[in-house]
Parts: sequence; structure tokens; C-alpha cells
Amino acid sequence: MARAWHLKSRPNGMPTADNFELKQIELPSLGEGMVRVRNRWLSVDPYMRGRMNDVKSYVPSFQVGEPMDGGAIGEVVESNAEGFAPGDLVQHMSGWRDEAVVSARTAQKLPDLGAPPERFLGVLGVTGITAYFGLLDAAQAKEGDIVFVSAAAGAVGSVAVQVAKAKGMTVIGSAGGADKCAFVRSLGADQVVDYKAGPILKGLAAAAPDGIDVYFDNVGGDHLDAALALARNNARFAICGMIEGYNSGQPTNLRFIMRVIAARIMMKGFIVFDYFPRMAEFYSDMAPWVASGAVKSRETVVDGLENMPDAFLGLFKGENIGKMLVRL
Ligand code: NDP
Repeated sequence: MARAWHLKSRPNGMPTADNFELKQIELPSLGEGMVRVRNRWLSVDPYMRGRMNDVKSYVPSFQVGEPMDGGAIGEVVESNAEGFAPGDLVQHMSGWRDEAVVSARTAQKLPDLGAPPERFLGVLGVTGITAYFGLLDAAQAKEGDIVFVSAAAGAVGSVAVQVAKAKGMTVIGSAGGADKCAFVRSLGADQVVDYKAGPILKGLAAAAPDGIDVYFDNVGGDHLDAALALARNNARFAICGMIEGYNSGQPTNLRFIMRVIAARIMMKGFIVFDYFPRMAEFYSDMAPWVASGAVKSRETVVDGLENMPDAFLGLFKGENIGKMLVRL
């Protein structure tokens, strides 16, 4: 019998262990074009918090009493699909469980880039694509820009910092705590702001005395406000995420929002799916960067399906450095 985490009840504010239930599930029989996959790595991501609410968005809500899903890497153990054989490693969306039967059309074999499989949930997967196109396309960041990246020790942020350095930009990263700041510095950031040591506006003003050209927003709230305050004329903001408000659902009051007008700031929200057709472009830069060590990857690994809700909740408590993963 396979096991899957189900949404037991919708969280109100910060989720708790009581919102999740691990239950056995019956797998369907292996129809034409289907593969049975044993999952090895499961992704937990901040966007999953939004899926726990009963609201329409760009991905469907999780349903109470139903299994949850998300990014996963697994090994094909049985195949009824052409081109897929036992032993193949695939990426698919039937996460939050140990085993799944999935349509081969929704599973991608991992490209042979000589990287460990879990990297395809991180720097070589959705995380990397988000950082790469968020910075270079949504924010139109270019050589010479002064770039501010929030949650810079996290999965997307740590890649955005390194892509910006690889493309010749000056980078300021913010993170919570001395260890995380040291990590961000080790990635090549020129300045680091510990937002837990003092107000982010004060820290960013000291780190960027000439202001910023680009803001890669992972946090929203005070961080976005500080970036607005320090934006130079024609600054460009990629609005990637606003984790600060995911549990409260309440956006923080932006005191400096009117600077959008005077400083002619361009703010662009984006969803990573939009960039999937440009995967080849992404790999052509990122694969050699990862192979040469120019872009480093770090993961925080939690072992065991039983511990998946803890790994997920850890994202909101800052428990991860780099990409948070669950290993089965
Ligand atoms: P991270 O690895 O960055 O994990 C979350 C981190 O956010 C934590 O480690 C913590 O770092 C920080 N954080 C949590 N709560 C707060 C808070 N209240 N205030 C400030 N910082 C906080 O996650 P990802 O890299 O996967 O995602 C980063 C952002 O990108 C998220 O907002 C996510 O929703 C978004 N995203 C958007 C995509 C898109 O298509 N637009 C695709 C993928 C991700 P610290 O300890 O430093 O505070």
C-alpha cells in the first residue's frame, strides 16, 4: 500500500501538524501510457500554503480529505508506457506520497547532466528556472545593475544571487541570522543584510548607499517597502513571492509605494510556468555553471515521509538554507 499526506483541515494562519494526515492510498492499475513510480525526493514549497486555502489561483486548491501533491523525483518501478523503463528517474507532480501511478505524459525523464537527481528539484529545476528568468526576464537585470535579493539564503534567492554575480551585477542579499548571512556572502554577494538584527530599511540603506536598480522579491512586506524606498530611477522589480504574508493573508502596509511613480519603477509579477517553454535557454547557461561550480547548490534535507509537514512548516520558520527537500 502506498501512503500519502492528505489535507485534513484548512489552516487558519500558520498551519499546524493537525492540518495534515498520513493515510494509505490504493494505487490505480497501470493503464496504457502509465508508469508506477517510487518517489525518492519530495519538494516542499511556500506556494503550497496558498493551495491550502479555498481560493481560485494559478494552481488548484488542495481539497480537504484528499491527498496533496507537488514536485517529486522518483524511480520508475513498473512501466506501461513507451520510452519508460524500470530504473528510469523521472520528475513529476505526484509528491507528498511514497508511491504513485502517473501518466508518462506528465513525467519527464531527468536529462543526463551528470548531476544528482535532487538537483532537478532545486538549482536545475523549478527553483533555478524561477531565479534565472525572474532576474533576467521579469526584472530585465543586466550587467552593472545593483540588485537586491530577499530571502537570499533560500532556494530561489540563493540561485538568484549567483546568477546575478555570474552576469556581472552587484548583489545585496538579505537573510535572517548570522549563519544564513555568512552563506549568502559565500555565494559571492557583495553586501548582506541580516533583517533579524535590525529594520530592513536601515540595513538596506547602509548596504546600498547609491540605491538599487533591481529588486528580486521573495518576501513582500517590509522588504518590498525598503526596496521601494531605495529604488533608483527606472528600477525594475521582479515580484516572485511574498512569503511574509502567506499565513496572515494580510499584505503589509507599503509606506513607500508612491515612489513607483516618481522613480518610474516597473513591477512585474511572474509565474515560473510561463518560462517552461524556454527550458533549453535555461539549461544552456545553468548546466555549465553548475558543472563548473560557478553556481553552487545547497539543500536542507529532512528524512522520511512522516516528517514532510515539519519540513513544509520549516519554510515559514526559516529552518532551511538552500532548497528544502524530503528524502525517502
Ligand atoms: P525559500 O527556500 O526561500 O524558503 C523560505 C524562506 O523565506 C525561509 O527560509 C525564510 O528565510 C524566509 N521567510 C519565511 N518567512 C518569512 C517572513 N515572514 N519574513 C521574511 N522572510 C521569511 O523558498 P523558495 O525559494 O522556494 O521560495 C522563495 C519565494 O519565491 C517564495 O515567496 C515563493 O512563494 C516564491 N516562488 C515563486 C515562484 C513563482 O513562480 N513566482 C516559483 C517558486 C517560488 P529567512 O530565514 O532568511 O527569513
